[in-house]
Amino acid sequence: MRPPDSVAWTRKHDDRLDPVFIPAGIGLRYYPESLRDLVQIVAGADQAAGVAIRPCGSHWALSDAVAEPGFPGAIVETHGLNRTLYDVIPSCLRTAVRADLVGQSPATDGQWDEGAYNLYHVEAGTRIYELYSRLDRQDPAWPFPTDSLDIPALGGSWAPPTLGGAGGQTIVGAATTSTHGGDLNHPPIADMIQAVHLVGAGGRQFWVERARFSARVPAPMSDAGKLAQVLGPLEIIQDDDALNACLVSVGRLGIIYSVVLKVVRQYGRRQTRHRREWDEVQRELLDPNSPLFSKRFLQVVVNPLPRFKDRRHSCWVSQAVAIPARDPLPASWRGRAQRAGAGAGVNPSIDHKPGDLYTVICRSHADFAEPFAVCLGLLRDLAPAARLVPFVGIRANREIDEIIVELVNLSRADPMSVGDFVANVCNFLVDEGHAWLLPAIMEAFLEFGQGDIPDERPAEDISYAMLDGWDYSDRDCITNADSIEVAFDAGTDLGVRFINESLIPRTNQLVDGKLTGKPMAFGGYASMRFTGRTEALIGIQKWDRTCVIEVAGLRELSGIGPLLDQLESDAKTMGATVHWGQRNQMTRADVDAMYSGIERWRGVLARLSSGGDPQTFSSAYTRAAGLEPP
Ligand SMILES: Cc1cc2nc3c(=O)[nH]c(=O)nc-3n(C[C@H](O)[C@H](O)[C@H](O)COP(=O)(O)OP(=O)(O)OC[C@H]3O[C@@H](n4cnc5c(N)ncnc54)[C@H](O)[C@@H]3O)c2cc1C
Repeated sequence: MRPPDSVAWTRKHDDRLDPVFIPAGIGLRYYPESLRDLVQIVAGADQAAGVAIRPCGSHWALSDAVAEPGFPGAIVETHGLNRTLYDVIPSCLRTAVRADLVGQSPATDGQWDEGAYNLYHVEAGTRIYELYSRLDRQDPAWPFPTDSLDIPALGGSWAPPTLGGAGGQTIVGAATTSTHGGDLNHPPIADMIQAVHLVGAGGRQFWVERARFSARVPAPMSDAGKLAQVLGPLEIIQDDDALNACLVSVGRLGIIYSVVLKVVRQYGRRQTRHRREWDEVQRELLDPNSPLFSKRFLQVVVNPLPRFKDRRHSCWVSQAVAIPARDPLPASWRGRAQRAGAGAGVNPSIDHKPGDLYTVICRSHADFAEPFAVCLGLLRDLAPAARLVPFVGIRANREIDEIIVELVNLSRADPMSVGDFVANVCNFLVDEGHAWLLPAIMEAFLEFGQGDIPDERPAEDISYAMLDGWDYSDRDCITNADSIEVAFDAGTDLGVRFINESLIPRTNQLVDGKLTGKPMAFGGYASMRFTGRTEALIGIQKWDRTCVIEVAGLRELSGIGPLLDQLESDAKTMGATVHWGQRNQMTRADVDAMYSGIERWRGVLARLSSGGDPQTFSSAYTRAAGLEPP
């Protein structure tokens, strides 16, 4: 194992210019590469009484879910734990589960049977893009654990049933905060998990799975005797509450070493996107029989700032269906080459057009060596969409020209990413009394990112390439963002009311100066996505259909913090649950009000902590949120 160190620790979206989140010299960072390393680290921390220990994945959480600023304890980095495992699956499966698995019909080309499944056992620090690449058999070093059975029905390519909008998180880091996508009837990523191998307080190990594997096989997945033979001394818990507590547990129950996932046959997705008016779409969202809910996936992106000319709010409606992934894949599908195998975790998304200005800047690490040219290029690029004609060209408005020159000087003095630059433009405009320009700038940005995908020419490709929209080659674009996600019962009007009664008026108040006492800038969007219900006891998708609303903006915007805090508070008052892995300030009272299963969750925590110090995995965040023993 690489020796521990005490380097500074930051989250992905922390500003590199800010004082660091946890400075160097405070606490230790561990880099386990095996189960043995992990057990040693946790047992050692428990012996050194009072040393708290927190697991982390890819540092993508925007909350203090890993640890609070200045956390004095140890942080366990899990990227070194990214192997596929072959000891438990299939050899420890119960006979009935094994019969159910191998008794499935082989794939039929040109059709897609969503009910077909396979099981995949993987270490917790595996990134989502590593996982989908392996499931699609684009990483020959990691075949399927069930390949040893040599059953045609289990051959071919597989996929996660759903994903969020990016794949850089670790599978457990994502699952354990309730990370989700927008597939209407699919629960979040956490619900793929069928079993968890956990290292709890004192280094005590647990294998946790449900008492019932499925409706067809109402018995546990594994044969406890075989598990004990293969994994050695560990406590086997076959209990629904115990697994449902682990699914979303924010690192508080211990460090998850590995998970067994239920995956589906590979499939494609066909997507359209249309620019619409929010005042029309909101009415359709209130009708459960609306065509909006007739497809597999729905996302509605709303601009909280109204348009200049008519004060209406633009929105962009994306819908997608699942389609068969034929073998061989259609030649027009670029996703596998772009996103899997050698392309996994390194390329821009399949949306990117190779020559566009953003791609060039994002890949270049340009740091605005020629800031004036880049700045004008950017504004010219945006001008047609934003109708920002006064910014450039022959009809230049003197006052705006002066502002541009000042901005250019600013970026020259302090080189910054495109995202930070745009945020500074917005801050500057508001400070200079030109807040009226914000809506146009944001409309242009959203239009750029959300361009129409017409019904006649839908976008289609392999599942994961359509879902993972993250640009892994990005060096200097939208580096720093901040966001909250709040969830409502989609069977009510609360999601729509949150947009109309909180997001839109609060954004106006912020820009007018009424929210904080002085005008402040915000530019960003609200994205409504819909999911099925989770089994996780403290998962945010607690309704049969959940409407999750993300509000995101550039982190350097002067008003982002006050606005997001206000929106979180409004949403809680309206009965929302709040995403654990996005910005949040949860209190014990909030959590008690949100989750009827919280006492059962705390009971599982008490049970799993009984072998050591129950405070081993505690942090200021878990204490504030009441993720503590009863
Ligand atoms: C660019 C971006 C896009 C995003 N897109 C979406 C989206 O589409 N949908 C959505 O719902 N969310 C989204 N998120 C939120 C993100 O998915 C969550 O914050 C997620 O928890 C981050 O995973 P991570 O691997 O980086 O974990 P970290 O941020 O490192 O940790 C998150 C939590 O997981 C715990 N943890 C990590 N590893 C382990 C382990 N082995 N055992 C036990 N606990 C562990 C940590 O203690 C912590 O509580 C996005 C975030 C970003 C930055």
